[in-house]
Amino acid sequence: MSMAEPQKTGDVLPEDVGTDDCLTSYTHIYSPDLLKDQVAFITGGGSGIGLRIAEIFMRHGCDTAIASRNIDKLKEAAQKLSAVSGRRCLPLSLDVRRPETIATAVDETIKEMGRIDILINNAAGNFLCPASALSFNAFKTVMEIDTMGTFNTSKVVYEKWFKNHGGNIVNISATLGYKGQALQVHAGSAKAANDAMTKHLAVEWGPSGVRVNAVAPGPISGTEGFRRLGGPRGESAGLFQSIPLQRAGNKTEMAHCTLFLASRASSYVTGAILVADGGSWLTSANDVSKLMGIASSKSAKL
Ligand code: NAP
Repeated sequence: MSMAEPQKTGDVLPEDVGTDDCLTSYTHIYSPDLLKDQVAFITGGGSGIGLRIAEIFMRHGCDTAIASRNIDKLKEAAQKLSAVSGRRCLPLSLDVRRPETIATAVDETIKEMGRIDILINNAAGNFLCPASALSFNAFKTVMEIDTMGTFNTSKVVYEKWFKNHGGNIVNISATLGYKGQALQVHAGSAKAANDAMTKHLAVEWGPSGVRVNAVAPGPISGTEGFRRLGGPRGESAGLFQSIPLQRAGNKTEMAHCTLFLASRASSYVTGAILVADGGSWLTSANDVSKLMGIASSKSAKL
């Protein structure tokens, strides 16, 4: 009698779709009530990883506000998200570089939803560019969106709600600065600053009942970042074989990590950076001349 090969535990991936659409099926890992009647404010929640975070949170009973610059994209996303989850999703326009737009969006969320329990700082800009070709303005813009944007949004939500009610902040980071990833001085520097900020704010705001943590994704399929950074090409060229888990991650996996840190499942965790990259940064190539080939075929525009 032949026995079926036992499935490796690591082979069981959560469902995902490669576009900015909702999942066609979803199997809960956590209790479906984990975030019941909580409210999450998610920057960049209209696309990519942020959209999937919004969906997974809503499938766990949470209402959401998704906020970024393009209101048409957000409205479309909000409709899809509510349709699959039966929860409320408020689309709000803001630019994380402009604190007054954040204040308006946060006021609107509190007025409409009555509270904010979770803040996800996910908005970011990125592209590949060698430092020598990077304009002063391009470096500054990435710092302003990724780093100042994270500070601005955290401070507004803290002042308006978390200071008196507690809450959970999860910053979406990256591993780029760990080894000084070629062609990424802008995003790597910005996210390194955010990792420091995660710890500073965890220390200062812990006594107010605010936990501050981060998820640092590796290469994540089905995202604009992945496409711009040459992910699909790398995948077909077998480049991911050098990653310990031998594949890219998916958006639902990032949403599950974020859900852990945003929920009571991690109630004694603060100031932590959860690296979710399949071990990628430990082994990935950092060869400037090879990566220059990818950069020269990409536009360096935001
Ligand atoms: P994405 O779809 O491009 O998401 C970025 C979001 O940020 C967009 O929804 C965009 O919406 C918003 N945004 C950009 N500038 C903004 C601004 N000034 N104010 C407000 N919102 C702004 O990219 P993603 O790949 O899912 O990335 C999500 C997060 O994961 C980022 O923090 C990224 O650094 C991180 N990450 C991604 C990967 C990956 O493989 N994809 C790897 C490591 C880390 P609007 O255009 O409407 O403003």
